[in-house]
Amino acid sequence: MKKLYLGVDIGSVSINLVAIDEENELAFKLYTRNSGNPIELVKEGLTKFKEEIEIDDYKIGGVGVTGSGRELIAYILGADTVKNEITAHARASTYYHPEAGTIFEIGGQDSKLIIVEAGIAVDFAMNTVCAAGTGSFLDHQAERLGIPIEEFGGLALEVDRDVRIAGRCTVFAESDMISKQQYGFTKPEIINGLSEALVRNYMNNLVRNRVLEGEYIFQGGVAANIGIKAAFEEEIGAEVIVPKHHDVMGAIGIAMLAKRDVKRSGQESSFRGFDLTEQEFETTSFECEDCANNCEVIKVIADQKVIAVTGDRCGKWAASLIGDTAAVANAEGSSEKEEKTGNERIRRA
Ligand code: SF4
Repeated sequence: MKKLYLGVDIGSVSINLVAIDEENELAFKLYTRNSGNPIELVKEGLTKFKEEIEIDDYKIGGVGVTGSGRELIAYILGADTVKNEITAHARASTYYHPEAGTIFEIGGQDSKLIIVEAGIAVDFAMNTVCAAGTGSFLDHQAERLGIPIEEFGGLALEVDRDVRIAGRCTVFAESDMISKQQYGFTKPEIINGLSEALVRNYMNNLVRNRVLEGEYIFQGGVAANIGIKAAFEEEIGAEVIVPKHHDVMGAIGIAMLAKRDVKRSGQESSFRGFDLTEQEFETTSFECEDCANNCEVIKVIADQKVIAVTGDRCGKWAASLIGDTAAVANAEGSSEKEEKTGNERIRRA
């Protein structure tokens, strides 16, 4: 039976699910907005996958999960491989572009720079703080200017005059844009200035004094914006390549890594199967006060049992709660562990 390998990227803005075959060809691709319930969205993604793929002809050979919400979803799926986004993005990028030297990645809520040598990520920088260098800032400005985000990038290429927009933070950028509009600059000119500001922000916050080498790869959701691509090319004076599947490169990379890991281990995948799309999950969280880390510990409960615990940096709660049925009562506020763990927040998916 032919095998497919699932890759899931749980970001704060989008949740991406792909399936690749033995030759790394993409058999399924889903990019969805993260509306705040990743378990439900992953279940819906798997249901769509089953509807599109003749699943009886295939076997799931491996599952990988990456992204900021990877730990929880990895437990739910029974993932074989769980790795950070840097590793996953670099894997996919260097597969499609073996000569890659620099990867620019800009997503909805963060941006990353990955330096690659001989196909290996050797250095990276991440910006998770400054919104002015991310896709959500562009989304917001497109909405403010009344321009669909899909047309935003193209308009930036239609200008004769340059206008400099302050890009150090969202508040300055927005007030600067408003005043430049009042001075009579057109919307395309403002958008062009904004694209250049975003790239300047990226260079100042992430690249700093690093020396960049080609090939230059641009991926993440924002890579669809040809205005930003052009601004990068202008800034570095070289061609920037946007991969065909630029929006799901993290998911593709983690699927490739899962395939590699399962083959190396010689074991079967630990994927929990498609029945999980029918299963009800409940997550509860509490703040552990046993040391200064104050971890937010998340429990996943299915069939009246705790099946996963994540967020506890020292691992103490995972060891004591998994398989615990009393912990369900705890989540409902009736056991003595409740006093220990404080108020729990409960949600179902
Ligand atoms: S879970 Fe462990 S590391 Fe986190 S606050 Fe409690 S004792 Fe500290």
